[in-house]
Amino acid sequence: MELPPNTAESEASAEAVEAGREDAEPGEQEAAEMPVEKVARLEKLTVQGERSIRDAAADLEAASAKLEVKTGEDDAPGLAADKAAVAGFERRLAEARAEADESARAERIAALKEHLTGYLELKSAEDAESLRFETADRLTGDYADQFRALNDPRLNDAMIVTVPDRLWVKGAQPSESAADKNLILVREGYLNDPGKEKQDEVAWMTHELGHLQRGKDVGDRYAAESEEKAFVDLEVGTYPNNKVEEHAFGRQFEYLKSKGVPRARVAEMLKDEYGPEDFKFLDRLLDKVYGK
Ligand SMILES: [Zn+2]
Repeated sequence: MELPPNTAESEASAEAVEAGREDAEPGEQEAAEMPVEKVARLEKLTVQGERSIRDAAADLEAASAKLEVKTGEDDAPGLAADKAAVAGFERRLAEARAEADESARAERIAALKEHLTGYLELKSAEDAESLRFETADRLTGDYADQFRALNDPRLNDAMIVTVPDRLWVKGAQPSESAADKNLILVREGYLNDPGKEKQDEVAWMTHELGHLQRGKDVGDRYAAESEEKAFVDLEVGTYPNNKVEEHAFGRQFEYLKSKGVPRARVAEMLKDEYGPEDFKFLDRLLDKVYGK
């Protein structure tokens, strides 16, 4: 995943995260696996929500058909009442859509809280309530700029979870993604660091959104891609030299380049977290984006 500290142990756990946490510690596994299906199901509208929308749409269609018959007859009996009925059903349909969206969102968040209670090993309901949930299309400031730069409507409903620093489990790494859950976690102190002039200067948000984008591009192949070398001639491991990191770092570097950030500055920012072996991959990718 992102910013793995330069130790063999954390590299292994970073790979576990990239592989959808299948190799996570035994205690985590059960908590991490069960809600995946559930979350995927709840990405969609609930059955009740879909039914309300369908009923409202049918009523509107019937009322519109009734009105249609009288079109062009200004003095037709009951015309005003029929028009009012159509307007009323239009309102009801809009309400049904809004309610269905809201209940799908509430269920999605509830399922994610359940998942994160296991993953973050939360000790209390208050801890789960302290997580903040917002979709990517609601990002603000420099983060919104990164989101817009990707120009991909499939990312609109990516869920960004802000995690209080005291509950953060990824050490120095400020963010991470779970493509299979359409989910990004960000440490609160990193997201809203008042001591920083620029938010997320190294554009980790673009990197994480890039992971989700790749997940949408390749679907079930994502986990396998995280084990496939991006540059086969490089004699390094598959982290970060793999297809999903190639995509995520690629989007990140393209964004930084578009903002006029010099290549040397990008490398400098990454050097705190990545060692010489990683740079065989990173330099190759920087060559691709910035040119040699
Ligand atoms: Zn990554």
